[in-house]
Amino acid sequence: MKLDAHPSGRHFLQIPGPSPVPDRILRAMSLPTIDHRGPEFGHLGLKVLADMQQIFKTRHPVIIYPASGTGAWEAALSNVLSPGDHVLMYETGHFAFLWTKLSQRLGLNAEVVTLPGIEGWRRGVQADLIEERLRADAGHQIKAVCVVHNETSTGVTSDIAAVRQAIDRCGHPALLLVDTISGLAGADYRHEEWGVDVSISGSQKGLMLPPGISFNALSPKAIEASCSSRMPKSVWAWDEMIEMNKTGYFPYTPSTNLLYGLSEACDMILAEGMPQVFARHQRWAAGVRSAVQAWGLQIQCADPSVYSPILTGVMTPEGVDADAVRQLIYQRFDCSLGTGLGKVKGRMFRMGHLGDSNDLTLVAMVAGCEMGLKLSGVKLAGSGVQAIMDHFSAHPGGLAG
Ligand SMILES: *Cc1c(COP(=O)(O)O)cnc(C)c1O
Repeated sequence: MKLDAHPSGRHFLQIPGPSPVPDRILRAMSLPTIDHRGPEFGHLGLKVLADMQQIFKTRHPVIIYPASGTGAWEAALSNVLSPGDHVLMYETGHFAFLWTKLSQRLGLNAEVVTLPGIEGWRRGVQADLIEERLRADAGHQIKAVCVVHNETSTGVTSDIAAVRQAIDRCGHPALLLVDTISGLAGADYRHEEWGVDVSISGSQKGLMLPPGISFNALSPKAIEASCSSRMPKSVWAWDEMIEMNKTGYFPYTPSTNLLYGLSEACDMILAEGMPQVFARHQRWAAGVRSAVQAWGLQIQCADPSVYSPILTGVMTPEGVDADAVRQLIYQRFDCSLGTGLGKVKGRMFRMGHLGDSNDLTLVAMVAGCEMGLKLSGVKLAGSGVQAIMDHFSAHPGGLAG
């Protein structure tokens, strides 16, 4: 195939973000770019800021950055901390690891907690480990606890309310910072009720937008901490953002067309209803897991109570290179799956069930995987395609739901 030739039919973008963008959102983004200081823009700004408060479930300010999620990670840390501050980072997987690395590059003193070996990468945050560490910190050296809500490298979610309760049980003043870059708008998330101080998210996962904008949702305590923070920052600084956002404007040029898309995405999510959106992802995830179980392969997440509704990590049998399987599926069937990251590279692949999907796109993804696994010589116990068809037949959703 010539490099510039596009294969016929639609590409199956089944990585866990960027997720497939609904046509309705792409069309909304094709509107003309407007003057970001003009009267029309203020309405758009106020609308998306208010919509995002509903999505995060908070009454407090939400900041929108023209950056990928990594920028919002840096923004969260640099607004509430000071150089050399001690932070407690829980390692659930590769994204938690990358956030730790980022914090070290910023000059923070990061301490990592997790379960031993690979166990930490197969389970959610163990709040008791955080509690134990905070109890030992009588001098309150730890300024922030950082956790990932939906660990996109493994397909494991974490109980954020339990982390808040653990911090409160010790009477420890540490701030709670949560990465819900891939969790927001796909998995239940409640910034204010769960007592999160800074929630971090991005556009290209559950929100179904292209990459390019990201978010910080704040608590009053986080805003207070930002007043005494001594980390250098300018682009990320909350103070000017909060001030200008009051009228719907931004201190520097916002991503106007992505904001059109964000407005459309919020309309879609809020019209369907957030409980319905979460239930839809749970149903999809259960269907995909039934396929993996029928194949006789292991799901990366070892605790069924925290299976991710957004993606499923599939471990390949000993001796089978998961990346070779992925590459074959891409080349033969035009379907992209997520690679194993960090210490599980080559040992697993990730199936995304987020964005503009439905039962049949997921059945097709499973079919692509099943063909690819067989072509790679993997002995499958049974048919995942049959299992997911049976699951969706027995559990109606969509227009019938
Ligand atoms: C995607 C992702 C990131 C990184 O975000 P970028 O938009 O790639 O910068 C961080 N954390 C999690 C959990 C993610 O899923």
